[in-house]
Amino acid sequence: MAEAEPAGLTTARAELVRYGARLVADRLAVGSAGNLSVRIGETVAITPSGLAYEALRPADICLVGPGTAGAGTRRPSSETPMHLAVYAATGAAAVVHTHSPEVVALSAACTVLPAVHYAITALGGPVAVAPYQRFGSAGLAAAAVRAAGQRSAVILQNHGAVTWGGSLDQAYQRAVLLEWLAQVYRLARCHGEPRILSAAELAEVTAEMARIGYGS
Ligand code: 13P
Ligand code: ZN
Repeated sequence: MAEAEPAGLTTARAELVRYGARLVADRLAVGSAGNLSVRIGETVAITPSGLAYEALRPADICLVGPGTAGAGTRRPSSETPMHLAVYAATGAAAVVHTHSPEVVALSAACTVLPAVHYAITALGGPVAVAPYQRFGSAGLAAAAVRAAGQRSAVILQNHGAVTWGGSLDQAYQRAVLLEWLAQVYRLARCHGEPRILSAAELAEVTAEMARIGYGS
């Protein structure tokens, strides 16, 4: 009989299927676009390439890392290099990549998502747009991590968004927030030139949230 896998991996498979379905329901991606991963120790569990989320089952989740060669039948996401680059550069436990429409539209026209609302502090501040590179390329992985800096989100020019966090839920909520901020920025521009929060105002928000333990 095959050896049972660690409980953490079984949980991760189920979580990735559940959040994949949410990605489509929340209109952050269509079809098989976007991808999700979770890091458990040295192993990364990631959605397979090109499989529609509605068809995704726990057994389809791919494992990447030491000792995982030959595991499973599906091909890991084409954006595996980008997920691994984020894990290498940050302490993230989960990464979410979307093709959410407000972010994609912004990515084609702007070089940054400015601080139009104080909630952007949850992403670390204004979100940079990484210069265009082909999907799945090492260049895209490098450009994404470089543009992100210390933030927990980055926008990919003419492509989409990447967010990460200490759990899949946190990374996912950041993707939802990023999409909302991009929409608010677009709406604000309909009224004229939006006022943008200063670095000092953002620092004040961050300090107050820490002081009151906001959301914890
Ligand atoms: P995968 O189906 O290979 O994960 O690719 C989707 C995507 O969003 C590529 O950028
Ligand atoms: Zn993509």
